[in-house]
Amino acid sequence: MAKIGATPAGGVQRLTLTDEDKQARDLFLKWLRQLDLEIKIDEMGNIFGGRAGNNNDLSPVMSGSHIDSQPKGGRFDGTLGVMGSLEVLRTIHENNISTERPIVIVDWTNEEGSRFAPPMVASGVWSGALDRDWAYNRTDLNGKRFVDELVRIGYKGTAPARKQQIHAYYEYHIEQGPILEREGKIIGAPKGIVCIHWCDIYLEGEANQVGPTPMEGRHDALCAAAEMILKVNELPAKMGGNMVATVGEIENYPNSRNIIPDKVHFTVDIRSWDDDLALRAWEDVRKDFEAIAAKRGCPIRIEETWRVEHAPFDRKLVRRVLDTAEELGYPSLCMLSGAGHDASYMNQIAPTAMIFVPSIGGRSHVEVENTRWEDCEAGANVLLHGILQSANEA
Ligand SMILES: [Zn+2]
Repeated sequence: MAKIGATPAGGVQRLTLTDEDKQARDLFLKWLRQLDLEIKIDEMGNIFGGRAGNNNDLSPVMSGSHIDSQPKGGRFDGTLGVMGSLEVLRTIHENNISTERPIVIVDWTNEEGSRFAPPMVASGVWSGALDRDWAYNRTDLNGKRFVDELVRIGYKGTAPARKQQIHAYYEYHIEQGPILEREGKIIGAPKGIVCIHWCDIYLEGEANQVGPTPMEGRHDALCAAAEMILKVNELPAKMGGNMVATVGEIENYPNSRNIIPDKVHFTVDIRSWDDDLALRAWEDVRKDFEAIAAKRGCPIRIEETWRVEHAPFDRKLVRRVLDTAEELGYPSLCMLSGAGHDASYMNQIAPTAMIFVPSIGGRSHVEVENTRWEDCEAGANVLLHGILQSANEA
């Protein structure tokens, strides 16, 4: 799979609904057909492969993730969960194991959200949290619509993107952080996903020739942004508790060394397990922003773009991941997920758990993203036993 969209530095670039995404989907479908799975593609392009159980009136156990990537992303993010689920189904198939409940493998469309914002849009529609037509009309930087690109690559299916009853949802994923490696653990069971607050900040200044314009009386939008960005960076230490805060994107206009910047846009991302703390932090930094804007005479416009509350996973399933790891002899850790996943939306409609394995050096969303093969195997083993247990529950 990593050969599709491979980058010279060892990563992949497989943005959603591009030709590379189509090739990866074609390959995934080929593998699903080898296991005689019942294949279904829905109107969001989500791909499902179903394996019958002894009693198909029982709701299925579902497992999967995504095969789209970030621009110059890594080979493991998302793909490990899809390949791990495929490996589980192959193992069950080759050993002629039957289960009471059906098992469904899934590849969710556009988890990353880097071509079409927001992320996790297709699991969001499937779970009923987001509107299908709204998702269809998302556009990329070239003004291309989600739905047109979905049709173009031939993956706008006919099945409705609508939730069905799911007995348990597992998502196997790389940790994308440094904690498992630091603690010397192999399996992580996140107790849930942190809350995420996204804001967009627009500043206005006054453009002028940089040479003849004295320093006093300037309205430099980039200097205002610079002060604000540091306030965001200082926020977690100031607020205490479990929190991260980041400015990851900035546009400066006209972006010329000869002109005082008169327009800046930047983003703010605040995450915490504690929703109230994140809200209080946002209110706090917002006051700082307004004070800085006033001091520098740069009018500010603030847009609260996206907000999800923290999501605790199903306690029984989280416990099962930890117990299974212990039975198989893998050191494990109950932790948090600092990243959003399709599991966030699935968690709203079904008992959900995730299985994490270490990211070497804690690096992710970069080409050097890597995980030891032994650890990949360990995670897939935990996934296998978790799925089998859930699939044999009455
Ligand atoms: Zn992912």
